[in-house]
Formats: sequence, C-alpha cells, structure tokens
Amino acid sequence: MDLNSPVSVIKGIGEKTAKTLNKIGVYTVRDILLRFPYSFLEYPEVTDIAASEDDVLVAIKGKVCAVPYKKGGKNDQVITRITDGTGNLSVLFFHMPYVKNNLHVGDTYVFYGKISRKNSNRALIQPKIFSEEEYNLVRKAPVPVYHLTQGLSNNAFTKYVKEALSFACLLDDYLPDSVITENKLSTKEDAIKTMHFPSDFNELIKARERIVFEEFFLFLLKIELNKESVLHNGIVFTHKNDVLKIADNLPFTLTNGQSNALNDILTDLESDIPMQRLLQGDVGSGKTIVAFLSMLDCAFSGHQSILMAPTEVLATQHYEKLCDFISTQELDFNVYLLTGSVTPKEKIRIKEAIQNDDTALVIGTHALLEEDVVLPKLGLVITDEQHRFGVKQRETMFLKGVNPHVLVMSATPIPRTLSIILYGDLKVSLITELPSNRIPIKNCVVNRSFRNKSYEFIENEVKAGHQAYIICPLVSESDGLDLCDTESYFKMMTDYYGDRVKVGILNGKMRNKDKTRIMENFKNKKIDVLISTTVVEVGVDVPNATVMMIENAERFGLSQLHQLRGRIGRGESQSYCIFMQGNNGEINKRLKILNESNDGFYIANMDLKLRGPGDIFGIRQSGELNFVVADIYNDAEILKTASNEVSKIKDAATISKYRELLQQQSLNL
Ligand code: ADP
Ligand code: MG
Repeated sequence: MDLNSPVSVIKGIGEKTAKTLNKIGVYTVRDILLRFPYSFLEYPEVTDIAASEDDVLVAIKGKVCAVPYKKGGKNDQVITRITDGTGNLSVLFFHMPYVKNNLHVGDTYVFYGKISRKNSNRALIQPKIFSEEEYNLVRKAPVPVYHLTQGLSNNAFTKYVKEALSFACLLDDYLPDSVITENKLSTKEDAIKTMHFPSDFNELIKARERIVFEEFFLFLLKIELNKESVLHNGIVFTHKNDVLKIADNLPFTLTNGQSNALNDILTDLESDIPMQRLLQGDVGSGKTIVAFLSMLDCAFSGHQSILMAPTEVLATQHYEKLCDFISTQELDFNVYLLTGSVTPKEKIRIKEAIQNDDTALVIGTHALLEEDVVLPKLGLVITDEQHRFGVKQRETMFLKGVNPHVLVMSATPIPRTLSIILYGDLKVSLITELPSNRIPIKNCVVNRSFRNKSYEFIENEVKAGHQAYIICPLVSESDGLDLCDTESYFKMMTDYYGDRVKVGILNGKMRNKDKTRIMENFKNKKIDVLISTTVVEVGVDVPNATVMMIENAERFGLSQLHQLRGRIGRGESQSYCIFMQGNNGEINKRLKILNESNDGFYIANMDLKLRGPGDIFGIRQSGELNFVVADIYNDAEILKTASNEVSKIKDAATISKYRELLQQQSLNL
C-alpha cells in the first residue's frame, strides 16, 4: 500500500464510495490527503436563552421539556420545546421526522442554529443537535468543511481523511533540510495533518504557509531545471542606427516612453545574451510600432522574426500594418501571415517560403506554435498581449529558435517582482504616456432608458464621419438570459437605422475569413457601426472609431472593459465610451471606477481590491499555474522567499537528484 493506492484501501471506503470520490477527482490516497478543506467551522460558546440574539448562529444548551410531536402536512414538521433556566424556546425541524424519536424529554442537548422571531414568538429553526460531550469536542478545534458531492457527507469525508492521515508520513518532503530549518518550517507530515485538523487558526496559517512554500519551491525549481537546457549564446543584431533613423522619420514623433523602450530593446539586441524583455504599456500607448521597429533590426541583421497575437483578427491587422510599413519605408523584406484559417495548400506554400527566406517577418496566432514552421534563422520572437498566453506556450516558442531574443508585450500590469520570478530574468520597459495627440475619452454609465439617446448620439457621430462599436455579451439569443446578443441586436439596429447608418456584425461564431472581411470593411468605412462580441477586445486599432457602447456592461470584468474602451480614443477626435447597464438599478460600483478613470494601472489595482485578487492577469487561468493551495498574488512574499532558496541550490548532486525526480514526473506536492 502506498500513496498511489486507490482510495478503496482506506477503511470504510467501499466500491460505491470510491466511485463517488472519483467523481470529484479523488482517486488515490494521496488525492485524499491533498484535498484540503475549503473552510472551517468554529462553534460558538453556549449562550443562555434569555441572552441569545435572533438571526445569528447560536448554541443553546437546553433540556427538552415537551414531548416532540409531528405536525402533519406538506412541511412535515417536528416541534418541541426546551428550557435552560433562563427561558424557554420552541425548536422546529423540517423534513426530519426521525428527530421525534431521538430527543428525549428531560435530557439535555446542545442545539446549534439560528433563532427566528415571529411577533413575540421565538423559535430555533432546524438546529444541529449535539450531546454535551460531542459539543465540547467540536468546540475544541475548527471543524473542516470539504467540497462534497451527492452521496458524500462532510462527516464521511472527514473520517476518510483521518484514516488516510496514517499514510501522510509517506509523502516526500522535497525541501532541503537547510531550507526547513532556516525558514522555521514544520515537517510536511505535520503540515498536512494540520491543514485538515488544526487546533487553532494560527496553526492553520503556519501549516498553509509551509505547503505554499513547497509548492512554489517545486514550481520555481522546475523552471530553473528547464532553463539551463536552453541557455546558448545569442545572436548579435547590428543595425540599431538604421532603425533609429527610420524611427525618426515616422509620420508621428515617438513618445518618450516609446523612444526609451525602443532604445532598451535595440541595445539588448546588440548583445549576445538573448533578450528577455517585457514591454508594458496601457492600451493605445503604441506598442505595435516598437515591435515593428525591433523586427526591422532583426531583418536588417539577416534574421527571421515572429510576432504572435492571441486572435486572428489582431494577427491580420498586424500583418496589414506591417506590410504597409515595409512598403512605405521602401524596404525589400517579405511579410508572412500564418493563421488557422489559411488553407492547407496555402499553408504548405507559406511555410516553404518562410523556411527559405532568411529575413522573413512572420505574423501569426499561436497556431504558429503547433505548426511545424521551420525557422532556421529565427532571431526574435515577440508575443503581443502576453497575458493571453500561458507560460508553457512561451517556453515552446523559446525552444523553437536556437536562442532567439524574446520580447513580450502587455497592457496588463504584472507586478514587477512577480514577472521576474515567473519569467526569469525578465527586464521591463514601461510606456507610461499616451501619444500627445490624444484627447481623454469621455465616459458615462447609463441604464437602458438612455438607449434611444445613445442611438441618436451614435448617428450624429456617424454623420460627422466617425464610427462606433456596440458590444454585446452573447453571440446569439439565449433562453432564460436577459442579455444582449449580437444577432438580435444587429437585426434591431439595421431596422432602426435603415439606410442612414451601415451596420455590421462580428462574433466568434463566424468563420475567420468572414471575421477578417468584416474588420476590413469596418476599417474601410464600409461599416459605420459594428455590433460585436468581445472579439474586438484585444489590440484592434481603427482610430476613426469614436464611440464604444457596451451593453450589459455589468457582466464584464473591469480590466476587460478597460481593454474594450481602449479600442477608441486612438485618433485625434474626441471619443466616448457608454457603459450600458442591463438593469435599471443603481450604478454599479465597478462601473463607477471606469467612469472616473482612463488609467489602466489604477483600474487594475481597483479591480484587485474589489474582487480580491481574481484573475485579472490571466495567469491563474493559464493551467500551468494551478497550485493546490498557493496563490500567486496573495502569497507573493512566500514566492519571493522560495525563489531565493531555489537560487541558492548550487550543489551538483542535489541538482541531479532533482532532475531525476523531474524526469520521473514526481516532483509534485
Ligand atoms: P497598443 O499599445 O494598445 O498596442 P497601438 O500600437 O495599437 O497601441 O497604437 C495605437 C494607435 O496609436 C495606432 O493607431 C498607432 O498608429 C498610433 N500611434 C502609435 N504611436 C504614436 C505616436 N507616437 N503618436 C501618435 N500616434 C501614435
Ligand atoms: Mg496592441
């Protein structure tokens, strides 16, 4: 018997229970041990009936003073009365007919539940019943509460955990002894036990810290072990000055932030240490041109570069812009677009062409990663909207070239300490200002009664030669959901505007080819108002669009709304963002924040505050960072300490021991 034995080796778990446990992902003894409670119950001290409050959880020690009797009917109630010397109280049970036989007149029990008041009558409703002894026991320590499923009670699971704990000593402790001593950590066995059955909350916090520490330690260790195998000498680019000359002759002047970032990057590219840089700048700050210029340095130096975008719409847009850019600069490089919707035949042709083109500039979606694209002279890899990609994807990309320079771009602020730890020695360039020709976006939060006014407003903007987006949360109509969908909205707006305004529709259900065509039409002003889902959320750049109206705005996350808003305010005209609340209630707190500020960093911070550190950086969702207990944001301090400890491991024997474990795939909690 070991940790990988099926749960059925545990006393009390038969075949049927095993199946139930499998349903919630618990297959082995180890799984039980690592299925920690999501919460703990703390039972209160016993209160007197006379002093007890209504509507809060209380424990009353009372003697049953009336024979429990069943009141028939639908509700199937059992009623009794208790006394504790300070007063009397009715006790009511629903759908628990057996209670009648369990409670004996004259006996004393502890009842735990809420008291409800109707006029002057008070009654304890559906309380849990304990003997005095039992209650003293549960009072001693917090009681674990587990995620359950039908056919599995908390009591039962608690029992299985208790049984399984005798196997806890078999869990491997991967932390070196020195780390344990230095950081005053408990043993793993103790920590696991305490995670389930702490004697108090302080103990629980310490045990949790210990588990988090190990999770981070293992995670960082893996990154470290993987890193070594991809370290080579980098490629030296040699055309910084040529690129700077071009940068000086753009139709616009680069902002200070753009200039500095470009300088950072071009300097990195002159070195034979592969660049690892994050370019961070709010939506609309002009990251794309910096990426293009970096790609030029690569091509001038005789190497291939890749720019990856998270959506096909964005990739296509980048492709067109880069083609324009290359041709206005009268340069002789080829630009390629490789996305999922390219036909297989065409793909083969493009891949072949890329392979034989030493200075290819390649744009694509992450389909680029899956394809067997051969890039013998790959020198630079850029990912746009980095937060949309997972860490693993980035590693694959890195392995693709011999040792390309890597630039990642993101509008989403990742705390610097975190990014360094997660992405290794990642340097950061910040663009803090928007191009000077921008006028701040005007915002308003309104409810549906404002709709007609909005439509008129949009029509006037169209008359003035501008364009608008209207965003709906759904693609098509969905029963039971009172949310706007693009298809119905498109019909409605077409009817409403008639010939006066050209309306278009864009959503994720459409074929990529059609999406591209629609975006093309929008860009060329063949469409005035685009009804769309959030497919336009990232990166889309049509500076002539001046209105963004978001239906059911309350359904979206703050950062997402900020991204959407970033589609406007990109040109020299005044832009307007209308957050349309789907209900007629009070103005949503979150929407107020957007109304007050156009600053992405501020909004990300507020988002964090309001909903706790949710997934605004997309990191948690990315799969590779699914920790059992650890939380990359809340436990950032532990992450730092663990990172320190990992970097201290230099001893060859230890490293090779870890490497072996990694190969056996057993370097996990
Ligand atoms: P993001 O940082 O969100 O990716 P983009 O690179 O798409 O922003 O740039 C937004 C718009 O601003 C584009 O239309 C771009 O041509 C324009 N732009 C970029 N830099 C400048 C600048 N220095 N001055 C004026 N306009 C600029
Ligand atoms: Mg962009």
